[in-house]
Amino acid sequence: MTVAHILTTKGNEVFTISEGVTLKEAIDVLAKRRVGAVVVADSARRVLGILSERDVVRAVSLQGQSAFASPASAWMTREVITCSLDTTVPELMDIMTKGRFRHVPVLRDGILHGIVSIGDVVKRRIAEIEHEAEDLRTYIAS
Ligand code: AMP
Repeated sequence: MTVAHILTTKGNEVFTISEGVTLKEAIDVLAKRRVGAVVVADSARRVLGILSERDVVRAVSLQGQSAFASPASAWMTREVITCSLDTTVPELMDIMTKGRFRHVPVLRDGILHGIVSIGDVVKRRIAEIEHEAEDLRTYIAS
């Protein structure tokens, strides 16, 4: 099972912001879109960084309300770990566990093509386990 399978079900919409937006504007996107992270991308959809709820918490903890007017790019992670359509679900789980993050942007030819969250991975893994159990039940019954 690969990232391509996950995107077939969930679609490849990714909520992005440009480097120039303020932290408050980025928070509004997180809230409105009900997601835990936004990708910071340029006009060609090349990934410049990722900003998650954790970064917002850190910003507010360090600077209080004044953080809202600062650029979101000041708080984003620039070294973004990405995956491809061929990355498998176990590989994704490994990437998220080792990196201690819950979002992995998907690149195709160096361009942002989708995003996979830990929720998507868990959902897919549960579906796989249920499928395997059903196969086993059918095998035992036959
Ligand atoms: P998360 O668990 O995804 O909310 O993110 C936790 C921290 O890891 C935040 O500082 C994010 O900016 C950062 N982060 C999230 N996703 C990635 C990623 N794919 N590559 C690198 N850093 C990330």
